[in-house]
Amino acid sequence: MQVFKFGGASVKSAENIRNVATIIDTYKVNGLLVVVSAIGKTTNKLSEVVDRYFHREGDPFEALEQVRAEHLTILNELFTDKNHPIFDDVINTLVEAEWILEEEPQDAYDYLYDQIVSLGEILSTKIIAAYCQHVGFAVRWVDARDYIFTDNRYMEGTVDWAKTEDKIRRDIPPILEKDIIITQGFIGSTSENFTTTLGREGSDYSAAIFASCLRAQDLTIWKDVPGVLNADPKWFNETELIPELSYTDAIELTYYGATVIHPKTIKPLQNTLIPLYVRSFLDPTQPGTQIRATHQTLPVPSFIFKVNQVLVNIQPLDFSFIVEDNLGHIFNTFHQNRIKVNMMHNSAISFCVSIDDTGENVWQLMEDLQKRYKVSVSAGLELITIRYYNQQTIDRVLVGKEIVRELKDSYTCQMLVKKKDE
Ligand code: ASP
Ligand code: MG
Repeated sequence: MQVFKFGGASVKSAENIRNVATIIDTYKVNGLLVVVSAIGKTTNKLSEVVDRYFHREGDPFEALEQVRAEHLTILNELFTDKNHPIFDDVINTLVEAEWILEEEPQDAYDYLYDQIVSLGEILSTKIIAAYCQHVGFAVRWVDARDYIFTDNRYMEGTVDWAKTEDKIRRDIPPILEKDIIITQGFIGSTSENFTTTLGREGSDYSAAIFASCLRAQDLTIWKDVPGVLNADPKWFNETELIPELSYTDAIELTYYGATVIHPKTIKPLQNTLIPLYVRSFLDPTQPGTQIRATHQTLPVPSFIFKVNQVLVNIQPLDFSFIVEDNLGHIFNTFHQNRIKVNMMHNSAISFCVSIDDTGENVWQLMEDLQKRYKVSVSAGLELITIRYYNQQTIDRVLVGKEIVRELKDSYTCQMLVKKKDE
């Protein structure tokens, strides 16, 4: 059996949904499970609903109305029969959000976020399943929350692998014998049956969970790029497609910030030796990239750019050394504020990290750290990572820039840089 994953961009319009249905129909094998994200930018829009509701700023119903209108526009294009039950199904799904919004906000933000934002994936999968049935192939809509179990950490649930694997292995294969499964990425549930999410862009990870638990033959992630490139075309004009790469290189690249695949996706596939294909839904005849167990290194140096970085410099107030005790506390503070460290560097009396400048929670982090440390920050930096670097590649990215911090090992060079003063 195989697993396919389609992201938000691949289903953002009626035309794209038709294309996804064609890909499923053309490339399906015996036993196919399809994981789908929310349509287009629905996740951002639903998170705006939660923000307005929770912080009582602006009208959450108006933001929700936009989501409804966009989904209905797509439905109207896909289904000429306006009495098709999918219309009511979509409307009723959004009524679940309205029920929450009608009450005063009493629950924690993270919990509310997951209950409302998860509806994006419920909507998209219902629409795609209905459309596939409409054009005549046997699909079954499956609720991923009945299969992927997490702890109670809302917005970033940790998967309970034993329970998840047990349920998937027992109940999914018999369904796949008859039907193609359409299910949601990004969402799971707690042992009390509350919805959780797996972290932004987590649908790739969901697909890897299903694929590894089912010991699938392979997983294909269909994207709007031809495969894994050696740099994001947003920052680089001459990019090259990497036809094949190892799990290790894929893990390293995504860890350093290559956004083509969610970083958590590779490990479960590597553990079960399941190949991952990254292919273009715009040009499905192309082979794309294959990620698998190989000792081959990347054929070309790869570049990862992360703009909008803040360098945080942390020193103990009493000028004692940075030791295990401080480090433990510092990392814990980052974890509690949900801040991921992109680069770190330490000396005897200071510890420096580079993090994404996400605004509000960076300030909260500062406040927490300042209770025990002297903290200084500098913003507006860029983090450049080169895997399989050489001097030429370093020179190429440093034009007009100067290095603030640099870390190198035999394969990877990371440079935190700022624009040179003219
Ligand atoms: N819809 C979710 C998000 O936008 C999950 C995903 O797209 O992978 O973060
Ligand atoms: Mg997405």
